Amino acid sequence: MFEQVMYFYHDPLFGASILLGIVAILIFADWGRNKYKAKKKEMALQDFAKSYSDGSLSDEIIDFLSISKNPTPSLMLLAKTYSLAGDRGYAIKIYLGILEKTTNTQEKLIILESLGITYFEAGFLQRAKEIFLEIIKAYPRNRQVLDYLMRVYENMGEYEEALDALESIEELSQPKQRASIEQMRSYLHFMVLKNSNFLSLEKKRKEIISLMRYCGKINRLALEYLSVYDREAFWIEVLELGTQSSIKHDLSANPALTKNEQNSIDSNEAILQVLDILWRFGREEIPFEKLKNHKSIMDIFRAKGYVKDNQECEVFELEALRILHAHSTQRGELTFEYRCNHCKNIFPFDSYRCAVCASIGQMDLVFRVVESRQSQFASSIDSMQNSAFINSAKQFASNFSAT
Ligand SMILES: [Zn+2]
Repeated sequence: MFEQVMYFYHDPLFGASILLGIVAILIFADWGRNKYKAKKKEMALQDFAKSYSDGSLSDEIIDFLSISKNPTPSLMLLAKTYSLAGDRGYAIKIYLGILEKTTNTQEKLIILESLGITYFEAGFLQRAKEIFLEIIKAYPRNRQVLDYLMRVYENMGEYEEALDALESIEELSQPKQRASIEQMRSYLHFMVLKNSNFLSLEKKRKEIISLMRYCGKINRLALEYLSVYDREAFWIEVLELGTQSSIKHDLSANPALTKNEQNSIDSNEAILQVLDILWRFGREEIPFEKLKNHKSIMDIFRAKGYVKDNQECEVFELEALRILHAHSTQRGELTFEYRCNHCKNIFPFDSYRCAVCASIGQMDLVFRVVESRQSQFASSIDSMQNSAFINSAKQFASNFSAT
């Protein structure tokens, strides 16, 4: 008996079959573990979905759910229509209703995603965040949900967390999307620095300036910050922008222009992009001595009437204002608007993320000349005085004729 066992033991087939057996056990154990993990994720998602169902289904939806075999696609469409029409409250109600009735995990996931997006659009950021985090926990490679999660963090002022979400997005992105991801990273870094309670003002200033010089696409944000917290550094950076701009304008690709002309166009463009910030300064706040050799910057103050040296401004709007100052009693001023690079919508306020299409980047500054409010006020006083004079003349004439 013992010899028979030893015979099998020495047989090479015995060793191979033992090895195969071990491999089969390992494969089976791994399959079981994955199955258990998937089941656990599914259960967690089901429990999470249950926690959001409030059971407040409307009668119409209850009727539709009871008579239809597969009501989810139609109700999803209905909810999306309500959401697009602006009735997000009702859309949320429908999503919650179908979420309660659906048992299929994949369908639950799609409904949760739509529900999260609707919560986000309706401004319920905390609820949207909870939903997106739960989906990511189960399916971490969902790019759309990661995008929304980053925007939720951004809107809640949690910029560090937004940067973490951006890292996951970067791993899933194509090489051609890297530039916009880099821009987003610079913006979020800037917001982290700006809102940090632990960094000193000096450290913040240094980091923001180096970030601005490195990236070149957050100039407006950085200069806006410096104009409030560090005027000296602000003027240094404006001068830097005026001399060697990193902005590449389309015109600079024109081969007919010399290198100096191209640099001049770039720097003019760069200064015009921050015109609204420079326009706010009062005469006494401007270091004219430092700026006197920079025409594109000085043109702005010529247009404001601070500098009267009879030099023409290159930009039409600025020249029009300069001429009004020099040769007329009427006064003009500039109004500013901000145009999204992507969807071309125009807004009265600047923001780094478009409120309509959600694309990121500096908006184009749009400016136009209007009559100054001071000038309007003066002319209205004049007309009031004139009409008062006419009325008193009429009164005098009628009194005279009565006598
Ligand atoms: Zn846009």
